[in-house]
Amino acid sequence: MEYQTNSAQETQKIAREFVENLSPKEDGALVVGISGDLGAGKTTFIQGLAGSLGVEEKILSPTFVIMKRFEIGGGKFANLYHFDFYRLETEKDLQGMDFEEIMSGPRNLVLIEWAEKLKNVLPKDAIWIKFEHGGEDKRKIIFNFQ
Ligand code: ADP
Ligand code: MG
Repeated sequence: MEYQTNSAQETQKIAREFVENLSPKEDGALVVGISGDLGAGKTTFIQGLAGSLGVEEKILSPTFVIMKRFEIGGGKFANLYHFDFYRLETEKDLQGMDFEEIMSGPRNLVLIEWAEKLKNVLPKDAIWIKFEHGGEDKRKIIFNFQ
């Protein structure tokens, strides 16, 4: 599935439709790997998605903190985890973040920017989304590109 958007708002609308169609898994977190160059729209997408889940806190790119957790009250998911693997080199860089515990929680929605850097830590059934620049405000969003 592939979309072309012409503004950040359009990308956030796609994000809202995407999250409406997601269902939690019974045996672990629902994991979404998000790839694409800097400025391609990964964080913008996550902002739209988080807003639609009722997260009020402003979502920033967590590049310097690697992971941030947002609690979701009363929804199909209990927690939204926002990772950014941009600065990670190996799986060891995830130590001390309870990564495995997070990935095994059935009511966790885990979104990972730059997930392609540590592809192997994502479950086989992860959803993959790729963002591509299309010039100015145009972006291509490709779902399940792998
Ligand atoms: P990334 O997380 O991939 O580095 P960001 O979401 O932080 O990218 O930045 C994308 C920038 O591009 C934002 O400033 C956003 O407003 C802008 N932008 C312009 N057009 C679009 C679009 N169609 N989709 C997403 N972002 C867009
Ligand atoms: Mg980002």
